[in-house]
Amino acid sequence: MRKSRLVLMVIFLLVVAFFALAPGYLDRSMNRVVSAETSLAVGEEAAALHARLSVVDLHADPLLWRRDLLVENDHGHVDLPRLEAGNVAIQVFAATTKSPVGQNYDSNPSDSDMLTGLVIANRQPASTWTSLFERALYQADKLAEMEARAQGRLKFLRSASDLEALVAVRAREGRPVGAVMALEGAHALEGRLQNLQGLFDAGYRVLGLAHFFDNEVSGSMHGIDKYGLTDFGRKVVAQAEAMGMIIDLAHASPAALAEVLASTSRPVIVSHGGVQATCKVNRNLSDEQIQAVAANNGLIGIGYWDGAVCDTSPEGIVAAMTHVRDLVGVSYIALGSDFDGSVVTRFDTSQLSVLTQALLDAGFSEEDIAAIMGGNALRLFYQLLPRE
Ligand SMILES: [Zn+2]
Repeated sequence: MRKSRLVLMVIFLLVVAFFALAPGYLDRSMNRVVSAETSLAVGEEAAALHARLSVVDLHADPLLWRRDLLVENDHGHVDLPRLEAGNVAIQVFAATTKSPVGQNYDSNPSDSDMLTGLVIANRQPASTWTSLFERALYQADKLAEMEARAQGRLKFLRSASDLEALVAVRAREGRPVGAVMALEGAHALEGRLQNLQGLFDAGYRVLGLAHFFDNEVSGSMHGIDKYGLTDFGRKVVAQAEAMGMIIDLAHASPAALAEVLASTSRPVIVSHGGVQATCKVNRNLSDEQIQAVAANNGLIGIGYWDGAVCDTSPEGIVAAMTHVRDLVGVSYIALGSDFDGSVVTRFDTSQLSVLTQALLDAGFSEEDIAAIMGGNALRLFYQLLPRE
């Protein structure tokens, strides 16, 4: 009798500890900033230039974690105070809804999911425990709720006119930070075309076709079969573009990337990753793929973690950008941090001026730096976001 009470007590304490400690522990251990030998010093010229830029980052995952994004955290990469400190004009917030156990860049089946444990530990609503679509809606709600509490410091962007208003206000007041909602992997549609409207209504404006496994819409570059678009996927892409959503080909299989680039008349983004030329990892773009994205007038967001750039110093990140510039020109380069996407980086979003410094050091002109750090992305959003 006594022994069973003790066992119950231990189980109770373990459950309490799981809910109290697991989300923070995972967040801290998965989204680290590791300083290394490299200098992160930013000179006066770079700091002054950075302060004049409209900085846009095409991909970060802070909404996945149980972290108050309105206060400055001592862990992770992104929150509102640090976006402000980094002079970020627009952050694309991506919603990850499913991650296979043993996730790797080469080959992942779709029949397991590490995120179920996290969403339960996060104490998310029970509807998000089993439904990927509900998980996506929940993350957009979280952003909307954050905007409501931010007292004018954050603006959830849904249209080209929202963007125009943001740019005008920022020119006067230097704030707010704009936020665009993106889906990381169309498995969250759960195979239903009508769920696309639900995502759009929740504020989603960027649609990533696949994440780490092949899904109902598209093969993944990390999937088992790595197929191209499915028939359903062709319908999804056509309808998403008609609604004014931006297609994101990061993680998509090479076959899907080639098919979308060959068939769409609208520019696309490859929101976060690197290039084979400086980092020969199979999640990065070949020269042929970079040329195809440029021919589409699309954007390549360069990431800051090991799998994207191999050398994670600001110089290493700029080396990937330099390759894209030399191959196709500066107009197709953007930032694609993957901050808070279970990556280790050398700096967080408050320190983005280190990239401005590294671009200056590499001999980029002020105009080219402005384009890379956000000007190119602003141009694409103006062109593609729905007009109201
Ligand atoms: Zn990703």
